[in-house]
Amino acid sequence: MSLRDDLVARIAATGPITVADYMAQALLHPTKGYYSTRDPLGAAGDFTTAPEISQMFGELIGLCLAQSWLDQGAPASFVLAELGPGRGTLMADILRATAKVPGFHGAANIVLVEASPVLADQQRALLNQYDVTWVDAMAQVPNGPLWLVANEFFDALPIRQFQREGAAWRERCVGLDGDALAFGLSPTGPQPALDHRLEDTKDGDLVEHCAPAVAVTRDIGARIAALGGAALLIDYGDWRSLGDTFQALQAHASVDPLDAPGDADLTAHVDFEALSSAAAPAAFTRLTPQGVFLERLGITQRARALSTDLTGQRLEAHIKAHQRLTRPEEMGNLFKVLGLYPANAAPPPGLEP
Ligand code: SAH
Repeated sequence: MSLRDDLVARIAATGPITVADYMAQALLHPTKGYYSTRDPLGAAGDFTTAPEISQMFGELIGLCLAQSWLDQGAPASFVLAELGPGRGTLMADILRATAKVPGFHGAANIVLVEASPVLADQQRALLNQYDVTWVDAMAQVPNGPLWLVANEFFDALPIRQFQREGAAWRERCVGLDGDALAFGLSPTGPQPALDHRLEDTKDGDLVEHCAPAVAVTRDIGARIAALGGAALLIDYGDWRSLGDTFQALQAHASVDPLDAPGDADLTAHVDFEALSSAAAPAAFTRLTPQGVFLERLGITQRARALSTDLTGQRLEAHIKAHQRLTRPEEMGNLFKVLGLYPANAAPPPGLEP
């Protein structure tokens, strides 16, 4: 039975489910979920991410994390964590670029937070020369000073959607129209977590709330504030999102999010304001466009250095990759970076005010 048939049977039996419940099942159902059953990345998959576009992305992130570690006195033991590491490419590039930073590898306790067994296997193969620990949730990451990166992780966490009606909200749900999955609205009810959105919305507006993203960021912020470290949270989204950003991608094209549960990638824009509030008492940086961040870290110099060995098509692909990561009309502006750090320390390089 397909996941779609499972969901239709369940909704027919017990009623509509929240968008968050639908998203969680579609992405991470243990045997039929999108991430549980495949590697979705790359040209042959459904979408491509920054670390898969060029090694420069991970190299610069690695040097940023290592510099931040040095700035905080190079603690002799720390956790180097990544959330949602995909194929492991970003962590492999981080580790290669930091191999010559004295003491960094020796002090790092590498921890990957990954829910998909298929992707964890790929990470294991790529990172087999390193001592790595896998856990499936942030709460299981061991304690200690924490330097962490997450690229396109928060956009995969389940959101709930609410439509304003007067001073109350109706939740957008997934129900049935005949035997097809269809969106509907629950009866109105109060939503205390959305009180602050009464200020910037009007009747009929739709807002999104991602409880798991808030919980994960609260955990990261508490650790960094107490024991030191820094986090780089990289994703698409804005300071505050308004409207429906729930979307599905299949074979690099946009599809209806209810069309193929388990076979399409589902995401929503990240609400960085919610993450920055959850991170307290850790400090947060200005929300910085990815292109600006990478330029400040020296991507142009790195691109030039790498290009000296390249000719023809490989040189052209390298130039295109640099442009794709940084140009405002490509990924440079759509993707944003939020840094978290202890209030009494320097912000991570590239994210200064
Ligand atoms: N960071 C990678 C992959 C992004 S895709 C890159 O930039 O290429 C999203 C990743 O998050 C995948 O590895 C997916 O399996 C993982 N993931 C999604 N939801 C998760 C959850 N709730 N807990 C842990 N990992 C999750």
